[in-house]
Amino acid sequence: MKRVSKQEALKLIKEASLEELGRLATIKKRALHPNKITTFVVDRNINYTNICWVNCKFCAFYRHKKDEDSYILSFEEIGKKIEELMEIGGTQILFQGGVHPNLKLEWYEDLVEWIAKRYPDVTIHGFSAIEIDYIARISKVSVEDVLRRLHVKGLYSIPGAGAEILSDKVRDVIAPNKIDVSKWLEVHKIAHKIGMRSTATMMFGTIEKDEDIVEHWEHIRSLQDETGGFRAFIMWSFQSANTELKTQIPEIRKQSANRYLRLLAVSRLFLDNFQNIQSSWVTQGSHIGQLALMFGANDLGSTMMEENVVAAAGVANHMNQDEMITLIKDIGEIPAKRDTAYNILEVYA
Ligand code: SF4
Repeated sequence: MKRVSKQEALKLIKEASLEELGRLATIKKRALHPNKITTFVVDRNINYTNICWVNCKFCAFYRHKKDEDSYILSFEEIGKKIEELMEIGGTQILFQGGVHPNLKLEWYEDLVEWIAKRYPDVTIHGFSAIEIDYIARISKVSVEDVLRRLHVKGLYSIPGAGAEILSDKVRDVIAPNKIDVSKWLEVHKIAHKIGMRSTATMMFGTIEKDEDIVEHWEHIRSLQDETGGFRAFIMWSFQSANTELKTQIPEIRKQSANRYLRLLAVSRLFLDNFQNIQSSWVTQGSHIGQLALMFGANDLGSTMMEENVVAAAGVANHMNQDEMITLIKDIGEIPAKRDTAYNILEVYA
């Protein structure tokens, strides 16, 4: 199949019918996943701190050190959460902060080593590009040094968080203190080079134009051509409650299911070098999450035993493993539990 150009992607977003997009995305998904298996991972989101200096306008999660409800979890508290996850058969922790202003690389090395040694069967999918970049700066070492040293301690996978929209003109408005596009791409490129794998994400629904979304996809498709290091693409819509951005720009609207499914389908067509695309039921709700499987997604993401960031923005959807299995079977696909690397652990035929 010929590669979709940026102009063609824009035309599809603006002009194609929803039905046609679902049809095309399903053809593409079936070509990559002919066995009709839809995967999910049992994991837990652990936010080791909510202290953050970056102050993104779209974020309702962060606190400053002086705030009463700011926190840093102790290693023991983190361990307890991991043990609860293991009790339900979980295999992955999505492990992210806040970008704490003072914690240096040695603290993160101790933490990763402590987790990896005690819980060797649990994968740390942790530390976004912005955390990695800041750890490098405050520790006065390079990004590559941070990644190599954490890799040695047991970090093999980093999440795509912090990408938002990979267009500097959008980032300058919604997250002016965050790393720019080239830095986000550089962190992932170095991670891939040293043997780590990562995911790519996108948050839409603030001030971006369709052109910015396609620019975002172009950036990650090009890097994937170069390194092959992204395991999956995950996109979700901005959740506005309790955010500064919603106060500043009240005309920002909640994104419709139609918009989410259209963009998801075009992402499946454009990102032809991404094997896996996740549905984002956490932001869209379980039924749109299920529909997403008919618009290109082949993975229902995670059971999210604990979710704090989206919940802080007023959205609290929940799903356990049995509900996921039911939703997948409902549309005639075969559910399977996977690990972080998308290896199948158990099939529920
Ligand atoms: S999105 Fe992340 S980096 Fe931005 S303020 Fe929230 S916690 Fe900090």
